[in-house]
Amino acid sequence: MSAPLLKVESLTKHYPLARVFLKRTTPVVRAVDDVSFSVEAGETLCIVGESGCGKSTVARLLMRMLQPTSGRVMIEGTDIAALGSHALRAWRRRMQMVFQDPYSSLNPRLTAEQIVTEPVENFERLSRRQRKALAADLLRKVGMSSEMMDRLPSEFSGGQRQRLGIARALALEPSLLIADEAVSALDVSVQAQILNLLLDLQEQMGIAYVFISHDLTVVQHIGDRVAVMYLGRIVEIGPCEALFDNPVHPYTEALIAAAPVPDPTRVRLKAPVDGEVPSPVNPPSGCSFHPRCPLAIERCRIDVPPLMPMPDGRTVACHVRAPNAPAQLSFEDSLRTTFMAQF
Ligand code: ADP
Ligand code: MG
Repeated sequence: MSAPLLKVESLTKHYPLARVFLKRTTPVVRAVDDVSFSVEAGETLCIVGESGCGKSTVARLLMRMLQPTSGRVMIEGTDIAALGSHALRAWRRRMQMVFQDPYSSLNPRLTAEQIVTEPVENFERLSRRQRKALAADLLRKVGMSSEMMDRLPSEFSGGQRQRLGIARALALEPSLLIADEAVSALDVSVQAQILNLLLDLQEQMGIAYVFISHDLTVVQHIGDRVAVMYLGRIVEIGPCEALFDNPVHPYTEALIAAAPVPDPTRVRLKAPVDGEVPSPVNPPSGCSFHPRCPLAIERCRIDVPPLMPMPDGRTVACHVRAPNAPAQLSFEDSLRTTFMAQF
């Protein structure tokens, strides 16, 4: 079997903070902690989770806009850290990103034609005719008229600007598109149009997507597989339908219960998750979801649950719902559990 298009192994990013006076250790923000997943060609992997859980940091690590603290990003079996500048440049052609705010990510002084053709012109010189033809083709791909070619970003609506952002990302015919909250700033009806556009483009061009959103209702429409993140870690990853129909991790369950129900006749049975997301500077011990979890047991406060494969193809990190063999406790931990068991 050939290597997957993208494979991420134990990716970790810690940001050191300023050292506290007279303290020995430097505090760190554990933005991304031991994250692993893979993406096959032409497939969509969605990453969901509340704000601050590390989604954008994962995107930037994939794009190599950030260096990981540890872990690897492999492209078709090659570690991108090992690529020389020439190979990295070639890879960058194949991996593109679409951002949340289509206004600030487009240069306000460039015309639509210049914006969408710029990535190609970074690699090769185009004649005036070639540039116009390319711009017309890219605009057509995203459902815009070539008559709009001479307009500036300020003359477009939010949805049209996001179409321009997508057209620009398509210019180099990428194999993988990373969309970080790409529809989050748009109205619901415009969101649906952009999601349909992305689905059509995927069908025509076979592009793989890493689609990042805090909004589960968006993810449900576009994902083949979904990874749910909590405080820098993946807590559940699996096929979209199975995950939405039958969430296993209590956090996934709470997120789904808290999402707006599109069908008003459906009655919501479960209450959304209580409490705030804890700080990634000093995350709770053991399973970092335990302080908010209705199912937490003693072990959840002590051990970090590993991701366990379930029979239906998903993987879940939960001591209660996806239990593994008893962990090897350290001497200190075993003393503590024995001590607690006596009370
Ligand atoms: P998300 O995209 O899921 O909202 P981010 O990846 O942007 O989350 O951030 C994850 C965590 O890392 C947050 O707690 C954020 O405050 C922190 N963080 C992000 N960038 C930096 C940085 N440059 N320095 C310190 N902390 C950061
Ligand atoms: Mg973000």
